[in-house]
Parts: sequence; structure tokens; C-alpha cells
Amino acid sequence: MITISTQQGKQVEIVLESELHSPIQAGEHVRAYCHIHGSDHQRSLSIKKSSGWGHCFNAACDATVLVAEWNRPLATRLLHFNYQGLTSPARPSLRPSTSESRKRPHIVQPLLFPPPKEIPQWQQEELRALRSLDEQMRQALVQSQRARLYLRSRGIPLRVARETGVGYLPPELLNGAEMRKQRGVLRRWVDRIIFPLNSPDGMGSIGRSLWHWQPGMSEAAHKSLLERENGPKRWIKTNPAGWFGADVEHFSHTILFVEGAFDRLTLLAAGLPATDVIALVGTTMQIEWLPAQVKTAVLALDGDDGGREASRRLANQLALAGLHVQICPPAPDTWGKDWNERWQQLGRRSISPVFEVLSGA
Ligand SMILES: [Zn+2]
Repeated sequence: MITISTQQGKQVEIVLESELHSPIQAGEHVRAYCHIHGSDHQRSLSIKKSSGWGHCFNAACDATVLVAEWNRPLATRLLHFNYQGLTSPARPSLRPSTSESRKRPHIVQPLLFPPPKEIPQWQQEELRALRSLDEQMRQALVQSQRARLYLRSRGIPLRVARETGVGYLPPELLNGAEMRKQRGVLRRWVDRIIFPLNSPDGMGSIGRSLWHWQPGMSEAAHKSLLERENGPKRWIKTNPAGWFGADVEHFSHTILFVEGAFDRLTLLAAGLPATDVIALVGTTMQIEWLPAQVKTAVLALDGDDGGREASRRLANQLALAGLHVQICPPAPDTWGKDWNERWQQLGRRSISPVFEVLSGA
């Protein structure tokens, strides 16, 4: 059992199913002797199996519990933010054992906190080298005509890219003698637009290749060129990676999730605040990274099969974690499967579904 304190100052006991004393099924609820205040006279603990939330009816105890296995996403989220210190200055603590619970050993759930995976040496060096060039890559984005033309071809104003920390790695940046050591790990990042990523594990980067891109070449033509000519991967990421979005403490109550980095830039170009839009840069989401102030998630993923499938999956996960979820896919027409593609073709009116959802959210 772990006691945590929510942002509202409420204490929640996160318990394991195995810690419940002689639980019995009672309709939608499970009743158990309360191991928190140590009673074995009455099954005063009542837990709703579908949500994992429960309460002890003993007035002196009045505990609120969450059974971790019955609501894993929420338990993970609560534990995570408590450890991050983002929800409360109070640190999680193991309650002193009561006379009742002393009879059974406490089991601290090990599954919720898998040990951090060891990051291979070359990836650590890669990340360090990229971070050290951050400022120079941002400047290169402004100075490189090639990078500016590419942004323009995707309908992204340079201002929006600069404000979100986007950079570009031109080959010249690796020429200097002082770059000799980093050259090896950075080679695969050359001629890429580079986006900063955030995660609780630290900053990361994702890079979009401009390999053999020429002014006037469409995104679709370039994509098929990269695939056809066996070119470099279109996108590469560091380890850790993360989200392309604002710092978590600045997140709004309502967050709009898109798949791609250019989709996020598109929505910011259309006037949405940077604190409201996160690019997942993929279709997986770490719900436990969401700070407690986020109440509503709008899923505006791609309009293809992958995006629709991911929307359904993420909507379920977010709802389980207690968030209000809305789904806002691009219209099912021929103007493109994502926001950036549609923006290039239709301009401002391509974004109207997003504004409609947000005005009602
Ligand atoms: Zn109790």
C-alpha cells in the first residue's frame, strides 16, 4: 500500500488486490475488511470493481482507496506524478503498519515501476551531441535557405517553427575540427529538420529527413522518393524521445493531440496556443505523463486506418484514466489524411473541425 496526496490535498491509498482482506463480491462492489484501520469485524471497505475506487465506511477511518490492478492507468498516473512532485509537495510514504496489517507482509507493487531501461552508450552520446548543438541548429534553421524553403512548402511560417524550438542540421555544422568526436553519432541527423521533444525522462529530438528534397517537390513526392530510392529513414528519434509539445507544467486543461510534428506546427500557425497542442510523433501515448490539470483530451489523429484505430485505443485509455475525451478526425475526403496536408491544400478552412470541437469543449 502506498499513500499519496492528490493536487487537491486528498489522500488516496493505492492498494493491491492481494492486500484486500477476505474480499467478497457484492453486486458491482467488492467488500473487504479494512486493512487500513485494521478491522476484522465488518467489511467496511467497499470498492467498485469497474473503476477501482473504494471507500471505508468506518467514520474514524474514512479512507479512499484505489485498487491498482483494477485501474492500472489511473494508478500509474497518480503514482507517477506523486513521485515527480508535480501533484503535491508531499512525498509518497508507506504507512506505518497497523496491528492487522503487520500479520501480512506489505507488498509494494513492482510492476507499476519497471526499472528504467539502460540506454546504449551510442544513444547517450547522440543525445548529448544533439543537445550541445541546439542553439546552433536553431540559428541554422533561420539562416539556411533550404530549410526555410522546406518549411514554406509545408505552409509553416518561420516564426512558428522558431518559437517552438525547431532547428536544422546542415552538413557544414559538422565540418569543424572540434566536431570530430561527434561527427559519427550525428551523421544520420544531417540535412534534417529537428524538433525538440519533452518527456519526464528528459529532452529528446526527432528529425525529418530532407534527403534529395528539391524546392517545388511535394511532401508526397518526397516521401515516395525516400522509400523508392532506399533513402534514409524519413523520421528518426533519440532515446529518450517524448512528445513535441510545451513543458508539462504549462499544459492547458484541454489538450489537442495530433500525430505529426508538422501537424502541430500547422495548428499553431492557425492560431492555437502552443500549450494546447501536443504531437505524439507516433500513435502511442504515455497517459501517466499527463499532469493532473489536464481534464479533456481532443484526439485529432490522422484520417487513415492507423489514425482511426489509434484514436479508438487512446480514447479508451484516456477515459479509464478519468479524462473527458473527444475525437476530431480530419474530414473523410480527398484533401489529405492529416492537418498539414490539408492546410497546404485548403488553407485556414481545413482547420475548422478543430475550432468547432474546441469551442464546444
Ligand atoms: Zn477503514
